[in-house]
Amino acid sequence: MDVTLSFDNGPEPAVTPRVLDVLNQFEVKATFFALGSKLADPQRRAIAKRAHAEGHWIGNHTKTHAVPLGRIFDEKIVFEEILDTQGLIGELAHPDRLFRPFGGGGELGSHLLNAAAVDILKSERMTCVLWNGVPRDWEDPRGWAEVALAQCLAQPWSLLVLHDLPTGAMGRLKIFIDRVLDHGGRFRQDFPPQCVPLLRGVPVGPLEPYVAA
Ligand SMILES: [Zn+2]
Repeated sequence: MDVTLSFDNGPEPAVTPRVLDVLNQFEVKATFFALGSKLADPQRRAIAKRAHAEGHWIGNHTKTHAVPLGRIFDEKIVFEEILDTQGLIGELAHPDRLFRPFGGGGELGSHLLNAAAVDILKSERMTCVLWNGVPRDWEDPRGWAEVALAQCLAQPWSLLVLHDLPTGAMGRLKIFIDRVLDHGGRFRQDFPPQCVPLLRGVPVGPLEPYVAA
């Protein structure tokens, strides 16, 4: 059982540093898919800088996280959502320029991207990172760890979406990591290939299911 952790929607001063402390304790490396609107705040960007310095990867999770890109019809807004955020990530970016679309409740589907977004990701040689496990930590801040463990046990390699948000859920992160290790699982930082349909701007898997018509 391999497990890759990702933390979306931060950085949050009350949560992300504590997540980093737990990851350090277990020597687990993860990816933080940050929001541009939050990185514009120097205090929050400093947290992303700390994560990067500690060996975690920093990815782009749109600027405002308001509407999934497949439901935005103004190309200028799509452009800003992706590229403004990439600018704010700056030198903290992973060389593969990681981008995770906003799923709006964790669902995979054609609402994730549109043609304009795909054009930008290709021309900017970005990497689209999806997921295959969503324990819905925001809905169940206590029970998510058991749900996540069940999802990890059900497949050989899970890429989990968690959230470094002030829901209380990350108070269970240590317990979850312990449970995975108890089950003989191992943590890794790279992504299952089936979760990466676009690598450095090049399609390497089916992208159509995630692009609005
Ligand atoms: Zn999100």
